[in-house]
Amino acid sequence: MRPQIVAGNWKMNLSQSQAQALTSEIVGMRRDELHQAVELILIPPFVHLKSVGGLFEHTPNLHLGSQNVAAYEAGAYTGEISAQMLQDYQVEYVIIGHSERRGYFAENADILVQKVNIALKNGLRPIFCCGESLEMREKGDYLAFLKNQISEGLFHLSAQEFEKIVIAYEPIWAIGTGRTAEVAQAQEVHQALRQHVAAQYGQNLAAQIPILYGGSVNAKNAAELFAAPDIDGGLVGGASLKSREFIEIAKSFPKADVL
Ligand code: PEP
Repeated sequence: MRPQIVAGNWKMNLSQSQAQALTSEIVGMRRDELHQAVELILIPPFVHLKSVGGLFEHTPNLHLGSQNVAAYEAGAYTGEISAQMLQDYQVEYVIIGHSERRGYFAENADILVQKVNIALKNGLRPIFCCGESLEMREKGDYLAFLKNQISEGLFHLSAQEFEKIVIAYEPIWAIGTGRTAEVAQAQEVHQALRQHVAAQYGQNLAAQIPILYGGSVNAKNAAELFAAPDIDGGLVGGASLKSREFIEIAKSFPKADVL
């Protein structure tokens, strides 16, 4: 069975004390209320990694993620943070290919491949994002575009490396807009992406890869989304900044194992 995952991308938000308060609330609610084998990943800004991670070290089912990683090992890259540095901070996951990085920071396929490689080499699991624009969706050629984002970013990997990948489908028109993809729209893409992975790596591996949906997920729409057969959880932006909302999202899996 695939893991069920809810990852909170805090983006460039929260002071250190706010980040600590949010983390403590999530840790407490996770312990007291969430009796399911859901994996939670908290993804704060770099500067909060240490203090946030320190609040839940060795807590089962709670993981630390990074919003970015340098495409290089080390050296004269002012302002960058390396995969090795993240590993020192017990970071387990890293978001790669988020549409905000692709768009605002001009991260192209070559850079994303370098980041994926460097993350895996240093023991970090990429949460690799893909997503189409509204224009592309309306034109109707979004599935080919999304499959291509996955192949060009990931299909150079060996099967052993690919096992570590988490895919996130994040339609750009649904990110931070309050407009969520309909369940059927998300399921269509998730299923197509899983088949695309199966064509390259086989059914068994494709059946193990978590594919998360991202784009205005909240406590009201999560249950419906997470009930779809190929949606294995969410990558959550805005709603991950509120502990109650985040935990309610995590409680929204229909068939979750009880711990
Ligand atoms: C995101 O940016 O990864 C995201 C899904 O944001 P939001 O939930 O705010 O749409």
